[in-house]
Amino acid sequence: MTHATPSSKTLRAIRGSFLDFTDDPFYVPESESVRYVADGLLVLEDGKVKDFGDYNTLQPKYTDLEITSYPGRLIVPGFIDTHIHFPQTEMIAAYGEQLLEWLSQYTFPTEGKFKDKDYAQKVASFFLDELLKNGTTTALVFAAVFPQSADAFFEEAYRRNLRMIAGKVMMDRNAPDFLMDTADSSYHDSKALIEKWHKKGRLLYAVTPRFAVTSTDAQLQMAGKLLQEFPDVYLHTHLSENVDEVELVAKLFPDSNGYLDVYDQAGLVGKRSVFAHGVQLTDAEFERLSETGAAIAFCPTSNLFLGSGLFKLTKAKSDQYPVHIGLGTDIGAGTSFSLLVTAHVAYKVVQLQRQRLSPFRAMFLATLGGARALYLDDILGNFEPGKEADFVVLDAQATPLMAFRNPRSVATSLEELADQVFSLIVMGDDRAVHATYIMGELAYTKEGDR
Ligand SMILES: [Zn+2]
Repeated sequence: MTHATPSSKTLRAIRGSFLDFTDDPFYVPESESVRYVADGLLVLEDGKVKDFGDYNTLQPKYTDLEITSYPGRLIVPGFIDTHIHFPQTEMIAAYGEQLLEWLSQYTFPTEGKFKDKDYAQKVASFFLDELLKNGTTTALVFAAVFPQSADAFFEEAYRRNLRMIAGKVMMDRNAPDFLMDTADSSYHDSKALIEKWHKKGRLLYAVTPRFAVTSTDAQLQMAGKLLQEFPDVYLHTHLSENVDEVELVAKLFPDSNGYLDVYDQAGLVGKRSVFAHGVQLTDAEFERLSETGAAIAFCPTSNLFLGSGLFKLTKAKSDQYPVHIGLGTDIGAGTSFSLLVTAHVAYKVVQLQRQRLSPFRAMFLATLGGARALYLDDILGNFEPGKEADFVVLDAQATPLMAFRNPRSVATSLEELADQVFSLIVMGDDRAVHATYIMGELAYTKEGDR
């Protein structure tokens, strides 16, 4: 029998080991940018973080607290995937081709199926379940060209109360007839979707021309017009992925001064513009991305799978011209939904250039770095009070081999933590995700886990 008055409310809290970032470890020493609380408490209220800190310090402040404990597990902010295609879920692992042939042989026929709203809904539902299973709580998502495919995605994301950004693809040339819109129809359809979905619940809209090859200049101009009319929506497209693609864009836009300039001339380069890949960028293009505040989605599994090349991460995170970078899985050219796997392959891409990607830097890119790239770091990306409580409970002992590798489940120093995080990145995938929380509510638990 409790004596709580009707006005008093039981607060919920999570106890465990917490890792998040308060700044960018590419520019601020890790000792100042990494926050680790070995025995921490995350107090939740109305889906947001109310308080966060050391358990012994914080617990006495709250008399009525319902605590869920995760002993021996590591809790991090929800992963952020800055580039992914939901209609390509079923065509992961399509053999043999590089970008342009892969698109015509595999991607376009698959995306044609998304004219059927019911089918799109079924795939969107599976896709979102897969994201949560992998600890991904926010993503920047391509739908297909059909407005109903974007509706299907938004409806499913809304039902799950997810912070998702998506848009209908715009493409009016160099594609099969059944997949093309026109400059005008893409403008009107996108506008209607913005009015319907942008800022509905936690949803946000991205104007989504596929890439310069499949849009006429007239269509890119229409995309620019949408950004002017709705200044807080996103721009999401591909940029400088593959050598043949870059050459083709130069031919299609003879008046441009390079690939990025094609988008720039249409008014598509600025804050909240996210360009997937950027493998072939020139120094001048990195500078332009830096000065405009645009972001690149680094998609290592996709870049290796399609043989596109090695993204120059160190160049992108230079002191002189820093560019916002997030990690992207780029499903279905990417080969895993897991941001842990994506960080692992990012490490290898950087290694092949004789440089290093530290475990904390990799984890930053998957969390607060992604939030910064999307200009969402005021509302998510770490455990600061007031932020949306999307987070992941990781298990560094998820498999027998991981348990053998990590006999001690709770790190007692930053060095030990870096080692544990590195093993999670290199050995982990969805099996290492014990639970995923959305707005403070349990949204996924791994089957068979305690
Ligand atoms: Zn892509």
